[in-house]
Amino acid sequence: MRTKLFLSFILIIFLALLSNVVFERLTLKDFDEFVRGTREDQIYWVMASIEGSYVNNKWDMEHLDMALHWGLMLGLETYVEDTSGKKILSSTEVLLSLNPNMFKRMLSILKLPIGEGEYAWYPLYVKGKEIGKLYTRPLKRLGAIALKEDIFRHRGREFLISSFLIAGSGAIFLSILFTIYLSTPVRRLNAAAENIAKGDLSVKIPPLHRPFGSLYSSLKCHDEMDRLTDTFNYMAEALRREDALRKHLTSNVAHELRTPLAIIRVNLEAIEDGIITDTPTVINNITSEIQRLISLVEGIEDITRAEASFFRKGPLSEIDLKEFIETITSGMTKMIKEKGLFIKTEGPSVTVKTYPEKLHIILKNLLTNAYKFTHSGGITVSWDKHKKDGGTAGFYITVEDSGKGITPADISKIFERFYKGKDSGGRGLGLAIVTELTEVIGGRIEVESTQDIGSRFTVTF
Ligand code: ADP
Repeated sequence: MRTKLFLSFILIIFLALLSNVVFERLTLKDFDEFVRGTREDQIYWVMASIEGSYVNNKWDMEHLDMALHWGLMLGLETYVEDTSGKKILSSTEVLLSLNPNMFKRMLSILKLPIGEGEYAWYPLYVKGKEIGKLYTRPLKRLGAIALKEDIFRHRGREFLISSFLIAGSGAIFLSILFTIYLSTPVRRLNAAAENIAKGDLSVKIPPLHRPFGSLYSSLKCHDEMDRLTDTFNYMAEALRREDALRKHLTSNVAHELRTPLAIIRVNLEAIEDGIITDTPTVINNITSEIQRLISLVEGIEDITRAEASFFRKGPLSEIDLKEFIETITSGMTKMIKEKGLFIKTEGPSVTVKTYPEKLHIILKNLLTNAYKFTHSGGITVSWDKHKKDGGTAGFYITVEDSGKGITPADISKIFERFYKGKDSGGRGLGLAIVTELTEVIGGRIEVESTQDIGSRFTVTF
């Protein structure tokens, strides 16, 4: 990727250089043509003036002198020949006849009396008849005036170099910036993905430290790379959990299956050997063990569903907490009332940002436990927004019951997978699922409980 970026920028620099060169060539070509055209015009004016000095088949020497003098002032060294090739007058002769002051003044702007380069000749006509030839070549200009054309050419070249330098350094600066901003995070992702492919699931990509990082974060720029990193970390975490779940489930399931299967086998062998005759009791035993097995399978289904919810990141959406909680509690009101209990909700109508699907599973499990372990009194659900230390608004939900409570010995174990109290009748997975999902959406769970008085579970986000 670095090489591709580098080559792309070299190409940009090359194109910038090429466009500059083309621009310079075109401009200078136009300019040279303009200079050449102007010089031709000047020569034609001098020719017209020389031709005007030929009157009645004779050269008017005073007039011719003035014409060549004018030519000198236009920067042209000239001489005129008649048709036989005899030199009539030259600009050098005109110069030598000049007033010394005038000659001196002309010397300050022109290199006199000799011009430079080859002579070019032009035929002179009067009324369609050739009267002679004008020979001319440019005089070298001195001082600032002489530099005008050169200055333009020089500026053109300067412009070419400076614009090339600006474009080039801009492209190099951008290539460095792009390399840092694009290729570094991609390489980090690539290295992390390779580690995962090798089986190292503990990979977590830390946030990227960018140059001008504080400016970057103060502008709250969370670009595609940051999002890709977040998603990658989420995916790695999902794989980690999946792996842990698989290992955990395999050992737990093996352990949980062994006991009922052993009991079933012992009972069936006893019947086979004729040791047990009380068949209904044996059938009862076998049925209750089979029920345990079914319950275990359902538990695996539960946890798989919860894990599926974990793997599905789902959208972060805004919900009205009051509406959300009351919809869940109202679905359970009937069965709670049938058990002779009450259910109360207490809290304001507040809008919070959360993952509703996961929050739904959390609440449902807490309410189901409260319902299961409460035999008198009832359940109270309360919630509100609160200010965290950093000042960001969070929220909490409390599920309180007046049930049997939890013993201090149990309280440290209830969040473990497959741990269940004595007369739970459940599968010991509810609170483990609640804990995992709470952590996934960036919250924590706390419990306070007094035996025979009740328990209070609080999830804080
Ligand atoms: P399960 O309810 O299937 O047994 P859980 O993981 O949900 O599994 O709970 C684990 C244990 O924690 C329960 O068996 C029970 O002993 C205890 N527990 C959970 N919630 C309550 C509660 N509200 N009141 C009393 N005990 C509870």
